Amino acid sequence: MSSRREAMTKTCWDLRAHVLISLALVLCLSSFTACADKFRVSEERQRQLQEEKGRVHCSRSRSRTVRAIVSEYLMPFVKDQKYTLPKTCRLHPDNDVYHEQEENMIELRPMQWQCGYCKKIFRNQGFLDLHFDNRHSEKLEPSSNSCLADACGALHCDYYNSLSSKPQIQATCKLAVVEKNRHSCEVLANTCFPADHSPAAQRLNHFFKRQFCDAHTCKKKLKIFPSGSGINRNKSLIYALTLFTVIVLAIFYAILYLIKRDTNLLRKGLRRASFRPPCKVQKE
Ligand SMILES: [Zn+2]
Repeated sequence: MSSRREAMTKTCWDLRAHVLISLALVLCLSSFTACADKFRVSEERQRQLQEEKGRVHCSRSRSRTVRAIVSEYLMPFVKDQKYTLPKTCRLHPDNDVYHEQEENMIELRPMQWQCGYCKKIFRNQGFLDLHFDNRHSEKLEPSSNSCLADACGALHCDYYNSLSSKPQIQATCKLAVVEKNRHSCEVLANTCFPADHSPAAQRLNHFFKRQFCDAHTCKKKLKIFPSGSGINRNKSLIYALTLFTVIVLAIFYAILYLIKRDTNLLRKGLRRASFRPPCKVQKE
C-alpha cells in the first residue's frame, strides 16, 4: 500500500517537474525571440541611419527649378555684362550638389533620356533621377553642401512653376515669409554681385534686386521678373532680324528679276525690228 502511495507521489512530482521545465523552456524561448527581434530592429535602424548619412537632403526638382530660373532670367544678363559669378555666390555651379549629375543627363529626344555614366536609356526624367539616386550617388559632390533648392523662396520657384501649369488661386500674403524671402534675395544679390567689386557687378546688383527682390512685398502688386527672360529677348530679336533680312532679300531679288526680264524683252523686240525685211510695194 505504502509503496503504491510512494509511486503515485513520485509520478506526481515527475509531472510537476515536467510542467515546470516546459514552462521554463517556453519562457526562455519567448525571451530569446524578443531579444532577437530587438536586435534585428536595432540592426535595421543602424542600417537606416547609415543610409540617411550618405543621402543628400536636397530636393532635386526644386534645385532644377532654381537652375532653370537662373539660366533663363539671370545668366543672359550676366553674360551681357561679361561678368563671372564668384565662387562665394550660392548660384555658382560649383555650389550645386547635383551639378555633375545634371551634366550627365542627356535628353536624346522626347521620352528618351540617357545616363551619361553608363549609357542606360530611360523613358522619362523621373526614372533617370531614381537611377542617379540608386546607382551614381557617389557622383554627388561630397565637398559641396549647398542646395540650390534653398534659394527657391528668394527666386520665386512657385511662381515660375505656375507659368507652365493651370493658374492657381493666389495664397494670402504672409508678411513673415515675404520678409524672409526678401532678405535671402538681397543676400544673394550682395554675395553674387558685390556692388564695390566692379561697375558691372554694381549694375548687376541693381538688376538682380529689381528682377527678383522687389516683388517680395505685400504692399503692392509688383511684377516678378520685370526685365523678362534674357533668352526669349535674344531669341525674338534674332528671329525678327532674320525675318527682316529674308524679306529684304526676297524683294531685292524680285525687283532684279523683273528688271532683267524687261531688259531682255526690250532687247529681243529691238533685234526683231532691226532684222525685219522691208515691205514689198505691190505694183498695180
Ligand atoms: Zn547610369
